[in-house]
Amino acid sequence: MRKLPIFFLSLALAPLTVFGHGDNSHFHASQDINVRTVKITDNVYMLQGRGGNIGVLTGPEGLLIVDDDYRTVSEKLSTALKELGSPTPRFILNTHWHGDHTEGNNVFGKTGTIIAHDNVRKRLIDPPMIFGSRPAPYPAFALPILTYAESITIHLNGEEIKVVHYPSGHTDGDSIIFFKKANVVHLGDDFFVGRFPFVDLASGGNVQGLINNVAALIQTIPADAKLIPGHGPLASLSDLKEYHSLVVESAKIVQDGMKAGKTIDEIKSAGFPEKFKEAGSGFIKTDMWIEIVYQSYSAK
Ligand SMILES: [Zn+2]
Ligand SMILES: [Zn+2]
Repeated sequence: MRKLPIFFLSLALAPLTVFGHGDNSHFHASQDINVRTVKITDNVYMLQGRGGNIGVLTGPEGLLIVDDDYRTVSEKLSTALKELGSPTPRFILNTHWHGDHTEGNNVFGKTGTIIAHDNVRKRLIDPPMIFGSRPAPYPAFALPILTYAESITIHLNGEEIKVVHYPSGHTDGDSIIFFKKANVVHLGDDFFVGRFPFVDLASGGNVQGLINNVAALIQTIPADAKLIPGHGPLASLSDLKEYHSLVVESAKIVQDGMKAGKTIDEIKSAGFPEKFKEAGSGFIKTDMWIEIVYQSYSAK
């Protein structure tokens, strides 16, 4: 536990708008942000703004979106959604509570129905500390009004959308969204393509839990499915397998160091093999990933 303050200090030193794509695009003024539309199938899209990737299902029964980015992106997002049929989605799913995936609830929740895991609602009512500050509680209209403990299925526009909770990974309220017919899966922040992930220990996240969840998903997701990650480009099952190996192998190096009685500073200065260099070039740098793993496996 002695190491905990160091962990939070280093997170607190990171910029406040750290939930970007890891390419510094989030440092631009909000008016510079553009929402990019990536067509996946005839009625499923991925939108990319400043925060987490957004999934969209279109059709005559109304739009369903998965996550809704930062509040500063809402106008641009609304415009991009209008192009796809309507500026006001009928349903909004939140993969987890973080602001880069839910702040748009403050706009889209006025007209749409928000659906999320029980713990997402809990944390938006009483947000925990994150990166050295505590977000303001969300007003009632920006909260999920339909919540579930394990899963929920939504039938809309001829599509079957299966929403499944995966226990303690990135947080303790993560859901994976399966668009069954379109063969598209939105993995939220359980998947950072090619990069070390953020695991929010203060929100019930756990590195081993994340590893287990990703392993289970690799067994579940069809080989030819298109994967929308929380952050990064549209991906495939083989990208998810590579990411799983990256997380497992790098976490094992930290665990081996811990078993050998090394301090966190010794583990950091030993570092990782060259092949993991690129993985530490995103939002979560190598040293921060080592701290997250160290803290996660130190916790009882
Ligand atoms: Zn995120
Ligand atoms: Zn997140």
